[in-house]
Amino acid sequence: AKASGRNTVRFFEQNMQQSLEQRLLMEKDLRLALKRQEFSLVFQPQVDNQQKIIGAETLVRWTHPKRGPVSPADFIPVAEETGLIIQLGKWILEESLSFLQRLSQSKATKNDLHLSINISPLQFRQSDMVADFSNALSAREISPEFLTLEITEGILMDDIADSSTKLEQLKEIGFRVSIDDFGTGYSSLAYLKQLNIDELKVDQSFIRDISSDPNDAAIVEAIISMSHHLGLRVVAEGVEEHPQLVFLTHQHCDAFQGYYFYKPMAEAEFIEALKKTTR
Ligand code: C2E
Ligand code: CA
Ligand code: CA
Ligand code: CA
Repeated sequence: AKASGRNTVRFFEQNMQQSLEQRLLMEKDLRLALKRQEFSLVFQPQVDNQQKIIGAETLVRWTHPKRGPVSPADFIPVAEETGLIIQLGKWILEESLSFLQRLSQSKATKNDLHLSINISPLQFRQSDMVADFSNALSAREISPEFLTLEITEGILMDDIADSSTKLEQLKEIGFRVSIDDFGTGYSSLAYLKQLNIDELKVDQSFIRDISSDPNDAAIVEAIISMSHHLGLRVVAEGVEEHPQLVFLTHQHCDAFQGYYFYKPMAEAEFIEALKKTTR
């Protein structure tokens, strides 16, 4: 047992060493990627209970020249830790706004579509965050109500005072704010009521087993009901199967996102999807 214990420790150290090297390499590559413009955006449609497209979430993609596509789940944390997310986040915002602008000019739909973008912890904590967003918007003719900022529960709860100040300012400008990955953090309902938010996104880990696990079903039912009492809309993410949709519709969930409807897609494909579903 002793020997194997020692082996376990060595194995662990080797892994740490390897992952440190990988991180350093990734950091170097991320810096280059910004210069070489290796990032792109995809858009995952959100639909209403009629399965009509009402908007989309912006998701960033990185195609490394040698390694190919790298998952944002892998590179966003490194970008966050190295501060590169600030530069990347600005680029994502600019590209998202210009996409929104093209969308409002295109004849694919008469409806106003909204776009949700993910805000990382470091980005949200910048002291000039609100000013940056406000300036980016006023440089273009886009109304802030068409932009939803997705902020995770963890970020908001991390510094309640700063969060509530920023949310007030963002709301003042007219942005919509959504709590991302809801249910995975430790939000207190009391704080939730105090924070000026518009929407909750139920995390996909709760949606996954909704039709087989009574506990998950009960949790989602409670989240939706509580949200509606607080005047918030609810978006379910990671909807993959019809029974999940049936359950969520029955609970009066407001909007849906997931592979059952659409995968994240490039702009041209999104426009095509719009033409097919809106009339
Ligand atoms: P998230 O914000 O929770 O994004 C949802 C993730 O779920 C996306 O993965 C999306 O492609 C995936 N997804 C959507 N529908 C389904 C489904 O039906 N089933 C399953 N299994 N997955 C589904 P993605 O694009 O790999 O992004 C992962 C995470 O990376 C995001 O989680 C977000 O935290 C971060 N991220 C992605 N894009 C951005 C960005 O532009 N900025 C920032 N700050 N973070 C981003
Ligand atoms: Ca999100
Ligand atoms: Ca999410
Ligand atoms: Ca997530």
